[in-house]
Amino acid sequence: MKIGLDFDGVVSNLGKLKAFVLKKVYGVSVPHTKADAFYIIENKILSRDGYIAFKKLIYEDIDAHLFMEPVRGAVTNIKKLQADGHEVKIVTARTGVALDVANKWLKKHHLHLPIEGIGFENTKHDAVKGFDIYVDDLLIQLSQMMDVVPHRYLFSWGYNEKYDEMGIAHRVKSWHKLYDEIWNLEHARKKRKQKHALHT
Ligand SMILES: [Mg+2]
Repeated sequence: MKIGLDFDGVVSNLGKLKAFVLKKVYGVSVPHTKADAFYIIENKILSRDGYIAFKKLIYEDIDAHLFMEPVRGAVTNIKKLQADGHEVKIVTARTGVALDVANKWLKKHHLHLPIEGIGFENTKHDAVKGFDIYVDDLLIQLSQMMDVVPHRYLFSWGYNEKYDEMGIAHRVKSWHKLYDEIWNLEHARKKRKQKHALHT
């Protein structure tokens, strides 16, 4: 199957990087599972302008990849999916230096998969046409591809728990679970194919 992955919050642990930089540069402790723009601005940890500068630091500092950790289980399970014969591709909002950082990070973790950057203000709709599966930590992205991707998964974090994914995506809490879900999908697909072959 063709599997699309978001980068930040699905492959690399963006929340952890945000919490790390907030502590190191700004001296504030924030739980990494909650560290999104809403939480940081709403709790007056940073102003709106302050957040823009912070975001630049997170995405565009070329050394940022040194401090980015994978989401638990991401690296092994991506390799497993590829070994199972799936085509895995990353579609991310990152472009320019931010995309270079992601590429460096993938190399560092010996992950060999294509990555496409589409820009922070854009929908991923056109870039994910033809995919069987897409995984994102932003519900809004998933809600915009309902007509083109049949199986959509929301990677669950504290910062997206407040959003109701019903009817838009299936929430998964770990890479282990995600791998199982994909395995079951593939298994059901194979069974359907066999059945179809028997009846024709
Ligand atoms: Mg993301």
